[in-house]
Amino acid sequence: MVLKTAGEVSLMDQANRIVHDVLDAIAGEIRPGVTTLELDRIAEAMIRERGGVPAFLNYNGFPATLCTSINDVIVHGIPGGTALREGDILGVDCGVVYKGYYGDAARTFPVGKVDPEAERLIAVTRRALEIAVETVQPNRRLSDIGHAVQSYVEAQGYSVVREFVGHGIGTSLHEDPQVPNFGQPGRGLRLKPGLVLAIEPMVNAGAAEVAVDADGWTARTRDGSLSAHFEFSVAVTEDGARVLGR
Ligand code: MG
Ligand code: MG
Repeated sequence: MVLKTAGEVSLMDQANRIVHDVLDAIAGEIRPGVTTLELDRIAEAMIRERGGVPAFLNYNGFPATLCTSINDVIVHGIPGGTALREGDILGVDCGVVYKGYYGDAARTFPVGKVDPEAERLIAVTRRALEIAVETVQPNRRLSDIGHAVQSYVEAQGYSVVREFVGHGIGTSLHEDPQVPNFGQPGRGLRLKPGLVLAIEPMVNAGAAEVAVDADGWTARTRDGSLSAHFEFSVAVTEDGARVLGR
């Protein structure tokens, strides 16, 4: 576990501010007919304009700035030329490196008017992230976060993904510890001020199982059900959690 100084947390706040500026801009561009490749180009230009570098581009060979995950895609969808359609839901995950420090956040958006069950899935996943953030307190245990997420999500009739987890973040995109969205409470390390975590519930409307496409990236629900994803990078503070970039 690497603890960050106040100066490092400040740089990570700036990296995450770029990420959230991008997500705010993308929110204003999403509509039926737009392609995810168009959204990706907007994101890359904004990041570079602000002095950042896209963190996902070329990460283990990933070919784009954003991960764009439509409907049954859980995470790691690759932007492309297919137009969004009314009623789709779109997960947008963005990472930025700024002055050597990483920011990472994600949101799921409705495309035009979506059906009530898709709206509810998005709302539950957003709330699961809020609950996770509220759980972060010094001296609480790491697994309390995942337990809180899983308990809430399953009570809503949905399932949490096991194959992908949140993570520490700092001078690398993925640092220790892993932050699962499931598990028993009271396990793992004690949270300490200066620990920075990317917390990212991935919630499936149906079963938890995952299948990855032949491209090696696109991760879908095995049963074809919808999936949503929200993520914040969060610094543990003396009195709770500070969401970075907000
Ligand atoms: Mg992310
Ligand atoms: Mg992440």
